[in-house]
Amino acid sequence: MKIQLIHDIIDLIFPENCPGCNRYEVKVKYCFCRSCIIQVIPAPNQDENIYSLAMYEGPVKNVLQHLKYGKRKWISRPLAEWMNDFLNQHREIEFDLIIPVPLHPLREFRRSFNQSWLIAHLLGKLQRKPAIYDCLVKVKNNRSQTDLNNVERKENVRNVYKVMRDFLIKDKKILVIDDVYTTGATANEVSRTLKNAGASKVIILTVARA
Ligand SMILES: [Zn+2]
Repeated sequence: MKIQLIHDIIDLIFPENCPGCNRYEVKVKYCFCRSCIIQVIPAPNQDENIYSLAMYEGPVKNVLQHLKYGKRKWISRPLAEWMNDFLNQHREIEFDLIIPVPLHPLREFRRSFNQSWLIAHLLGKLQRKPAIYDCLVKVKNNRSQTDLNNVERKENVRNVYKVMRDFLIKDKKILVIDDVYTTGATANEVSRTLKNAGASKVIILTVARA
């Protein structure tokens, strides 16, 4: 939080470019400038347990890439605030605790952070709900889903997750946070793993939907 405050002060004096368009623009909502925010397309609800804030296009896609690959970690805060507003507008989404989709430790080590955890952690503070980092872990370092078709994606994520402390999630409603929902292979596998370990309900919330 202290680092965030320092960042906020620096940003006030030397504002960062808008991560949506990479231009020097004033941010008007979340991390978006005026011209980017109007290009954000809200994602339609898929089913009662899967939600995304926006479509994975234009400024939203840029923002997530800046966060993940550009390591602009501060972006996680406006994204958590966006999710917080979404949850406050959708009171029907009930949950007891928040869990990020984990990265394999090797990948997390290489990136130095898990973007979904950064968002989940801040969202937990905003929602006053526990966010747990190491309850669900990724035990297999599978290949990236990017170049795989739907069938291969499903196979690629099979049994890659494991619940470490079942008692934490037993009979709990869990909100799982991820950055992008693509085919649903990851979301389904995470959901299946958590339910097998005793979770009563699993709801997926992602920033974007491809
Ligand atoms: Zn912009």
